[in-house]
Amino acid sequence: MSYRHQKGVNMGKLRTLDEYLAEHEFLRETANFNLQLEQRFADVQPLDLPSRDEVLKLVNADEIPLLQRDDFSPKILDAVEPLTNLPRELSEKLLQQDNLAVHEICASSRLNETLTRKTFWAAVDKLVPDELKLWQRDEWTENFCPICGRRPVMAWLKKLNEGRARYLSCGGCRTLWHWRRVGCPYCGNVDLERIHIIEFDGKRTIRLDVCDECHAYLKTYGEDDEPNIYLRDWATLHLDLSAEEQHLLKCGAVELE
Ligand SMILES: [Zn+2]
Ligand SMILES: [Zn+2]
Repeated sequence: MSYRHQKGVNMGKLRTLDEYLAEHEFLRETANFNLQLEQRFADVQPLDLPSRDEVLKLVNADEIPLLQRDDFSPKILDAVEPLTNLPRELSEKLLQQDNLAVHEICASSRLNETLTRKTFWAAVDKLVPDELKLWQRDEWTENFCPICGRRPVMAWLKKLNEGRARYLSCGGCRTLWHWRRVGCPYCGNVDLERIHIIEFDGKRTIRLDVCDECHAYLKTYGEDDEPNIYLRDWATLHLDLSAEEQHLLKCGAVELE
């Protein structure tokens, strides 16, 4: 399929993506699959959710992510249903990240689990308004996404004034939130001596921050450009494979994308 001229997708982004895929030919099939999914929901309108300030206040009061709250989860599930045609119970379990239940329902309904997960989260991504997807310093300090509750799949070291700030990136609804610069977001280890970094081919674009306490790794994007491609988890699948060979754990996502 050609993804160059799809409507609703930014061409500038795609030109860069095309260059990227020319260097990473083996990702083309995965990319096509994921871009088709994004395209499927390209015209979906975001939900009418409370303002940014209200959301900040709400979730910080009890640390329950927005879409996990009793007053908002039905709203997102109602909106997801006609988009995905997934059984309601399955969508509920996906939203609650009850992985065992998701696995069982997919198996008994003969649904492809990876496709089901991806379809559900691609729909959620489009339903969350953009203004809720970037959280600055001290706006949210937990190690899970303030919008959907998933743990981060990646990080972005973004240039800020003289130094760099680290943002964690949700693999579900694609929210970015500012988080402390040093430390493992999975086990809380902050001992620099117990964290190491793996770089690839001498390039700084993407590296792995590895925690020696829990053996989890966090793929970290280190350039200043808007990380359109790199913060898509699937675009660095080859780094996950390399990490797996080194017996490291991927903690933010249940599926290899
Ligand atoms: Zn999220
Ligand atoms: Zn750790």
